[in-house]
Amino acid sequence: MIKTAPDQHQDIRDAVRALCAGFPAAYHRQTDAQRGYPEAFVDALTKAGWLAALIPQQYGGSGLSLTQASVIMEEINRSGGNSGACHGQMYNMGTLLRHGSSAQKALYLPKIASGEWRLQSMGVTEPGSGSDTTRISTTAVKKGDRYLVNGQKVWISRVQHSDWMILLARTTALAEVRKKSEGMSIFMVDLAQAERNGMTVRPIANMVNHETNELFFENLEIPAENLIGQEGQGFKYILDGLNAERALIAAECIGDGYWFLDRVTSYVSERAVFGRPIGQNQGVQFPIADAFIEVEAANLMRYKACELFDAGQPCGAQANMAKYLAAKASWEAANACIQFHGAFGFANDYDVERKFRETRLYQVAPISTNLIYAYIAEHVLGLPRSF
Ligand SMILES: Cc1cc2nc3c(=O)[nH]c(=O)nc-3n(C[C@H](O)[C@H](O)[C@H](O)COP(=O)(O)OP(=O)(O)OC[C@H]3O[C@@H](n4cnc5c(N)ncnc54)[C@H](O)[C@@H]3O)c2cc1C
Repeated sequence: MIKTAPDQHQDIRDAVRALCAGFPAAYHRQTDAQRGYPEAFVDALTKAGWLAALIPQQYGGSGLSLTQASVIMEEINRSGGNSGACHGQMYNMGTLLRHGSSAQKALYLPKIASGEWRLQSMGVTEPGSGSDTTRISTTAVKKGDRYLVNGQKVWISRVQHSDWMILLARTTALAEVRKKSEGMSIFMVDLAQAERNGMTVRPIANMVNHETNELFFENLEIPAENLIGQEGQGFKYILDGLNAERALIAAECIGDGYWFLDRVTSYVSERAVFGRPIGQNQGVQFPIADAFIEVEAANLMRYKACELFDAGQPCGAQANMAKYLAAKASWEAANACIQFHGAFGFANDYDVERKFRETRLYQVAPISTNLIYAYIAEHVLGLPRSF
């Protein structure tokens, strides 16, 4: 394993690494080949309490900081696993924690912390609106003590391995609101109940083993008590949770980055062509060194974002920049890794092609690189809003 600067979280690293060691490369490779769900792995992480890291102790969670939680995600990916199968369970509940009523928190959080309930899904993206979330057309109309939901979502992940989903829908038409970010609300949706009562799930086959779906709603009834916070404020509530999500995804990418760097440095040190290890050639060394520098730099921004978040300070710029830098760095490390494995980079048994596919996702989802540029241009540099 390549040497990285020591940090204060070695105890968490060691414990997560020990758990992950029980799920070797062959386990993740087989799960990927079968397009399966790493049920045993996610169960083990849940039972050990790692996915409840951000739930306060009063609700049965571990009450860890975002910095510590990010180390958990980093170690999962660094071990060769993919946090994408379970990261929603760690951060989706943040919306409930910040904006739910005390009754909602008392009902949901202890069961999420224990793993009895999975809140792995968040339904935001729609085919007609894409990144322009304010233009979603799924509606929730109040009828007595229920809301009636109609519309469609796309790319909604882990629905088959979740008990609950947080759903964003319009409760006031776009034409009737003062600001386009108003008039949207979020709801807790009981997924098993919804599938019997107006929600259709259609899986989307995709490049990674990332369980994701189209959802269709036809008069889906949601009890009014499942509304989180105030009606019309849902978009703001979702935005409030994004900084933590960005920092955690950055940590996953950093874990991937170190995994690629571990693999490629060891391979190029051993593989001999033209009578010497290929790693002796500067043409091979330099892209690897370049990727290492980028991963290390991204890591600093990830810690900066987490530190600000944990201190209750604004961290939108740092969380977005960490996600941007880490996704780019892991992709550069992935490219160097596959390139210098030559043909073996394409062999399933080496795991490089699987991790290569997995890490590519993070320049598109959960937020694309261009949208981060737009955020920095507008909110940090004060340039005119571009959309
Ligand atoms: C595997 C996977 C899992 C996902 N899971 C979930 C989930 O669980 N829940 C959920 O709600 N969503 C999920 N998503 C959706 C994801 O969040 C979106 O794909 C992402 O936000 C981009 O939206 P889009 O695909 O509609 O791209 P579009 O908005 O159509 O954009 C396409 C491209 O154009 C660029 N672009 C768009 N507008 C501009 C502009 N003004 N300036 C410059 N560039 C622009 C974008 O950056 C992007 O690269 C998932 C996606 C994937 C692939």
